[in-house]
Amino acid sequence: MIEQTLSIIKPDAVERNLENKIKSFFKAKNLKILKSKKVQITKEEATEFYKEHQTKPFYQNLCNYLSSGPIVVMILEGEKAISINREIMGATDPLKAEEGTLRKIYGISIDKNSVHGSDGLESAKTGIGFFFDK
Ligand code: UDP
Ligand code: MG
Repeated sequence: MIEQTLSIIKPDAVERNLENKIKSFFKAKNLKILKSKKVQITKEEATEFYKEHQTKPFYQNLCNYLSSGPIVVMILEGEKAISINREIMGATDPLKAEEGTLRKIYGISIDKNSVHGSDGLESAKTGIGFFFDK
């Protein structure tokens, strides 16, 4: 099934000018970058975006971090885009991420792990709607 998913290049990776390198990983796996823009969100917007994590101990840190600098938000499209993007990203903790994945290669720590990707159809839809107009 052709899907769309939301990808975010997080502040640690934008800061290190990794945008083009990261985008080449998506293209190499046949994910088309339908839309892309660089934005900076407020802490309030980050708390809304990550509200599924509101009870977690890392929530405040996470929201401060995502709003701390510019990010690149993208709509990726392709066959099984949601799960393929998660494979390209690797595990949440760069120390546990598989060889060759974005988080293994570029991630600094579990919080500064360079990329975000939707984890299912529902979060892809709400994530894309959060950042892009219809
Ligand atoms: N996170 C963190 N500490 C943790 C777990 C997660 O700082 O112990 C951050 C990390 O940046 C992660 C984000 O919270 O990417 C969302 O967590 P989730 O479990 O949804 O991981 P993901 O879907 O990004 O792999
Ligand atoms: Mg997640």
